[in-house]
Amino acid sequence: ALAPDIHDINRLIAGFDSVLRGASGATVELQFELAEKLALTKVDSAQFESALLNLVVNARDAMPDGGKVRIETADVQVNGEERNTIGPLKPGHYVSVTVTDQGTGIPADLLQRIFEPFFTTKAMGKGTGLGLSQVYGFARQSEGGIEVVRSDATGTCIRLYLPATQEVV
Ligand code: ADP
Ligand code: MG
Repeated sequence: ALAPDIHDINRLIAGFDSVLRGASGATVELQFELAEKLALTKVDSAQFESALLNLVVNARDAMPDGGKVRIETADVQVNGEERNTIGPLKPGHYVSVTVTDQGTGIPADLLQRIFEPFFTTKAMGKGTGLGLSQVYGFARQSEGGIEVVRSDATGTCIRLYLPATQEVV
C-alpha cells in the first residue's frame, strides 16, 4: 500500500547512501550534491528509494567501465516553461532529484519507449524493463514528474520532480 508521508528528501537520500553505494558497485563513484535548504515533500519513502535505486542501477549499467554518478537535489519553481518531462508538469514548487551519469546515453529513437513497462535493451536476465516504469509510476502517484534532461554520448541526466509541501515537521 502507498503510504505518503512528509519527508526531507535529503535525509531519505542520506539514509539510503549505503544501499546506493552497494548497488552502484566498486567502479562507480557516487557524488552527492544535496541542497542546503530543501522544502519538504509528501512521498512514500519506500517508493522513493526504489525509484532512486532504479535510476542509479541504470546509471551503473550504462557505464561498464565505471565512472561518476551525481545525485543532486534542488528547490525548483516551475512556471510552465518548456521541459522534457513525460507529460505536462503543473506549475508550482518542487523538489528535484537529478541523477547524472557518464554512460553510453539513450539512442534518440528509443527515448519514447524507455518508460514503458518491460521495455529493455539489456540481455535476457540482465534487465526486466520495469525500472523506469516504476520511476514513472512513482512520479505520477506523487503528482510530480520525470524528465530526461539530456542523454547523449557523454551520458544521461534524468530528473524527478516531487511537489513541495508547505507543511513542517
Ligand atoms: P532495465 O534497466 O531493466 O532495462 P529500465 O526501465 O530501468 O529497464 O530501463 C529501460 C531502458 O532504458 C534500459 O534497458 C536502457 O536501454 C535505457 N536506459 C535507462 N536508463 C539509462 C541510462 N542512464 N543510460 C543509458 N540507457 C538507459
Ligand atoms: Mg533499470
